[in-house]
This record gives sequence, C-alpha cells and structure tokens, in this order.
Amino acid sequence: MSAQLILQSGKDKSLLRRHPWLFAGSVAELNGRARPGDTVEVLAHNGKPLGRAAWSPSSQIRARMWTFDVEETVDHAFFKRRVAAAVARRAALPELAGQQGVRLIHAESDGLPGVIADQYGNTVVIQLTSAGADKWRAAIADSLQKATGCARIYERSDSEVRGLEGLEPVVGWLYGDAPTDELTIIENGVTMAVDIVGGHKTGFYLDQRDNRRRLAELSAGKRVLNCFCYTAGFSLQALAGGAREVVSVDSSGPALATGQRNLALNPQFDANRAVWREADVFTELRDLRKAGEQFDIVVLDPPKFAPSAAHAERASRAYKDININGFKLLAPGGFLMTYSCSGGIGLDLFQQIVASAARDALGSNGPSGRSARIVQRLQGAADHPVDLAFPEGEYLKGLLVQVD
Ligand code: SAH
Repeated sequence: MSAQLILQSGKDKSLLRRHPWLFAGSVAELNGRARPGDTVEVLAHNGKPLGRAAWSPSSQIRARMWTFDVEETVDHAFFKRRVAAAVARRAALPELAGQQGVRLIHAESDGLPGVIADQYGNTVVIQLTSAGADKWRAAIADSLQKATGCARIYERSDSEVRGLEGLEPVVGWLYGDAPTDELTIIENGVTMAVDIVGGHKTGFYLDQRDNRRRLAELSAGKRVLNCFCYTAGFSLQALAGGAREVVSVDSSGPALATGQRNLALNPQFDANRAVWREADVFTELRDLRKAGEQFDIVVLDPPKFAPSAAHAERASRAYKDININGFKLLAPGGFLMTYSCSGGIGLDLFQQIVASAARDALGSNGPSGRSARIVQRLQGAADHPVDLAFPEGEYLKGLLVQVD
C-alpha cells in the first residue's frame, strides 16, 4: 500500500493543468511511510485522487508526477510504455530520421521527470536527476534497450542537481562494455567525437543541431568567431558552410582538444582556416577589440549563467557584457547568433538584454548609430520538445540578429 500525499487546499490547480511538480509548500501531509523515490498517491485536500508521483523528501520539489491517470500504476510496464512513446515521437519527426545523435527522452516534456536519454549511434547515455528516476534505473535502462535495440547503455548521473534530491553521483556501464573505438556521430554531414565519459552532460549538446546547420548556411566566405565553442560543433558547421576563417574560444583545454580532434576527423576541411584560443570569453572579446579585429558572424553560446530566477540579475549583467562586446566586433552587415540556456532568463528578458546591449554597443538608439534587427528566433531541436503544460522545459532560446 503506497503512502498518500495530501495537498493543501487549493494546491491542486497546477496539477489539474498537468504541471508535474509539487512544491514543499503545497503538501499538507504524507499518510504512511515513503522512502526517497517511492511512488505515492496524490490526493487533493478533499480526498480526490489526482494521480501518482515520486516522493523526494530532501528537494523543494517534494514530488514529481509520474501519471495524472488515477488508474495507472507505476511499474516496469509503465516505463516501457513511456520510453516507447518517447522513441516513437522522435520516429515521427522526419528531420530526426537517420540522425546518429538524438535525444530520446527529454525528462518532464516526455512524461518522465528527471530522466534524460541521448542516443549516440549504438550507445545510449542516460542521466537520472530525480529520486524517482534514480529508483527506476533498471526499468528505464531495460526499456531503452528494448525500444532502441542499442547494445550499450552508459549512465552519466553526475549532474550537480542530484545533490538537491539527496542523491550521490552514479556513473558506469549498465549494458555492454566500454567500446574500444572512439565514439563518433555524424551531425549535418560532419563527424563529431562524443566523449560520453568525460564530456559535459551526456557528452554532446544535441540541442544546437539545427542552429549549427543555420550557421553553416550563413557562413560562405565569412570570418566567424565562435565563443564558448566546447567541442567546436558550431565551428565545424561554419567550415562546412565555407567560412573563410573560424576563431574558436573556450576556457576548457579538454573541450578545445576534442574540438581539434573533431577537425582532424573531417579532413575535407582546411585546418589552416581554424584558429583556437584557450581563454576566458569575457577577456578575449575585449582583447580582440583592442586588436581591432572584426568578424562577419559572432556566435555566443555560454553556459547557464542563471540556473534559476534567483540568479537572473547577475546573469543579466554577464549576458549583456558578452553581447555588447559581440556586437562591437561585428563588421558592417554582420550577424550575432546569441543564446541563453538559463532556465532563470525567459525569452522576453533575454531579448531585452540583447536590445540593451545593441544600444550600448552600436548606439542604435541615437541618430547616427547602427541599427540591429532580429531575423530569426532560435530554439532547441525537435528532439528537445517542450510540453505545453511545462513551460520550464523551454530553456534554450536564441536570437539571430543582423546589424547594419
Ligand atoms: N556551443 C557549444 C556548447 C557550449 S557549452 C556546442 O555547440 O557544443 C559552454 C562552454 O562554455 C563549455 O565548453 C565551457 O567550457 C565554456 N565556458 C564556460 N565559461 C567560460 C568562459 N568564461 N570563457 C570561455 N569559455 C567558457
């Protein structure tokens, strides 16, 4: 008999709209015993059953809904259905057909809170970030193996957010052994090494796939500056699009080393067109300006400066700083491709920050300034969907801005 989580009066509203998070403040009481990750029945204050959730006593998100269907039990078969549905959703999207790198499960937006699964060729990498997901590791891995037929499943549950759920890091092979060959995928025609063991997140930023292709389309004959390049995904797409030169900047030596390895994996590109700078972007942008450098395209894809709304103010200043200096480095007619992956910075705020950076950098509010216009809004690729009931899932936002 599972424990019952009784909500405070009036706190069932978000649940009735199928929002999956139950904050500590909306819980009236827990009847019965539950350990972290156990499934509990969720009831409104008046006793009306609302569904089932994973209990997480140490997190401010005290429970995450597995199901809003009071008839549905949470067992191995439940995960098999949810995982198969997520994989089928991708199969129905033609742009994902034939991709070797695909996000198969995007957590809450695929009805599986705390579960991330990325496929790289014959290997799936999972990241479990909630107590409930951690509890069901075996069922999730087995369901993924069956749904994909992949020989190897690796777990990279070492994200810091596990600490909030009282979970220790867990990494290792769940199915199959470490491959002896280097793991690579082909993205938009370019071969990319994926370091699933030592790289960021599950090894690669699949969410930028379409935006990298967009950069390729703009790059013919252009001089491109790629800031926060990580393993050079944007840089190599710029070269694929015929860039004259690409300067790639990152503060991480290992990331740049993988970037250079990626260039070597694609002998079709002229390595002399690639310049690498191991540096802090905030400083490097200033140094490039002092040196009088100009670029036709500047890409800014920084890490999350604002993990939550509480960090928004400081993060806004950081975003503004890099965007000001990015704008200042643009040659006439140039493009700024600028992103934020901060959950704490919404699209409206991000656009305001970029607009204010343009005013400061280009004098675009004055009579003799250069103006700047958004030509495209950019977002995560289709394998990173956003459930309409879960707007928090929309973390990646970007603007393609053309300046005079
Ligand atoms: N654009 C990349 C992903 C960027 S992830 C892609 O398409 O794959 C963010 C990167 O920023 C990481 O590689 C991290 O090493 C780097 N980074 C973080 N802070 C930095 C700083 N202040 N200066 C330079 N690089 C930084």
